[in-house]
Amino acid sequence: KNALLKVNNLKKYFPVEEGLFSISSNPVKAVDDISFEIYEGETFGLVGESGCGKSTTGRTLMRLSDPTDGSIEFKDQNITSLPERKLRKLRKHMQMIFQDPFASLNPRHTVEKILEEPLIVHKIGTKKERKKMVREMLEVVGLNGDYAKRYPHQFSGGQRQRIGIARALILNPNLIVADEPVSALDVSIQSQILNLMKDLQKKFNLTYLFIAHDLSVVRHICDRVGVMYLGGLVEMSESDKVYENPKHPYTKALLSAVPIPNPEVKRERILLTGDVPSPANPPNGCVFHTRCYECMDICKVEKPKYQEVEPGHYVACHLFNEKEPTDK
Ligand code: SF4
Ligand code: MG
Repeated sequence: KNALLKVNNLKKYFPVEEGLFSISSNPVKAVDDISFEIYEGETFGLVGESGCGKSTTGRTLMRLSDPTDGSIEFKDQNITSLPERKLRKLRKHMQMIFQDPFASLNPRHTVEKILEEPLIVHKIGTKKERKKMVREMLEVVGLNGDYAKRYPHQFSGGQRQRIGIARALILNPNLIVADEPVSALDVSIQSQILNLMKDLQKKFNLTYLFIAHDLSVVRHICDRVGVMYLGGLVEMSESDKVYENPKHPYTKALLSAVPIPNPEVKRERILLTGDVPSPANPPNGCVFHTRCYECMDICKVEKPKYQEVEPGHYVACHLFNEKEPTDK
């Protein structure tokens, strides 16, 4: 398998300025040392509660935001500190789809203008050719080409998300970062958009990073899934393995909230107590220990290593330490 994107020990900290004299306190560790690869043609899911750092990860690896530390490689090129001029070229190959398409579509522009803009920025085609490309792209995402003359408010939420997808696709990118693309849509519309994304993936050989806050949406679309908690990856594996054999206590709790279609399969609901701690002041040891129902003494003092416990299955939890026995 070819890695299209490689993220190594990525950190994104936000400085916090406080008080009258701007004494800076602890930075917010939005993303704290995560590593993963996304293979060409796959859909990699990044899942976790809001504030866990998944959106920041997406924005940082697209270089919409500068990483604090670590490295990002895209198509075998180190893009960690590319200057803005080169980034612009790169963005042709990596595009984003947002949760709220309405907020990301300029209400005063026609769909034609919205979709034509990236083509103009990248100096693609004549005006006539661009108009034709826009019409064709609208049809590719299942909309009428004549809709080019309309404004965003004239569309339903699902149609607007199709426009958002058309805008992301019009430059013919390799990687699409989709940040909760269906979270704001009705359940019935969600599956239409997910099916469209799957079809487009095949048609255009796309690679997806799919960000979501719950595991139910991710299962049907993702090949592999990474689970994030408080800025870190706690578990990562093929989707089926994560669903059928979750290992990290946090993943188990998240999964226990996902309804199972088969009523004969029973899964006990695990309710987590307590709030997610502040990323400016994360707990010592395992950052999940304040909410973990399996917490041991070692968890409060020692950060668990993120390690491969089965081929391709990574977990950060002392329950899976190779060397030490886990029952003491
Ligand atoms: Fe729970 Fe300890 Fe594992 Fe953290 S390391 S998830 S506290 S058992
Ligand atoms: Mg988010």
